[in-house]
Amino acid sequence: MPDKIHKPDAQWQAELTPTQYQICRKGGTEIAFTGEYWHTKEPGVYRCVCCGNELFHSETKFDSGTGWPSFGAPFDPDRVATRTDRAHGMVRTEALCARCGAHLGHVFEDGPPPTGLRFCINSAALRLEKKSG
Ligand code: FE
Repeated sequence: MPDKIHKPDAQWQAELTPTQYQICRKGGTEIAFTGEYWHTKEPGVYRCVCCGNELFHSETKFDSGTGWPSFGAPFDPDRVATRTDRAHGMVRTEALCARCGAHLGHVFEDGPPPTGLRFCINSAALRLEKKSG
């Protein structure tokens, strides 16, 4: 796990698109079925759009029917951090990039075996590095 990344908010704003900034640095959520990766089945590695941290592998991606990319597990538990999110009158588990603190989405306990978890992630927080061949 590489060293943590800390950047001033203004720098993130300059480096990211407005949508990426709103979701990753301001805890926003993209509208279901509108993101780039919700229906993507191509093999590859999903990296943090902010810092390049390897977050999820396509092998754990499944069709949740929610309209957001959904994964049963992170690439490595150390790469994705979680914390309790009490926003909007709900108690949820927020998923964040463990390296740069980017808001990724939320974790729910209604996923498929073997983990039973569903990492419900915004496409805008991810960058798919497609596996060739
Ligand atoms: Fe990151």
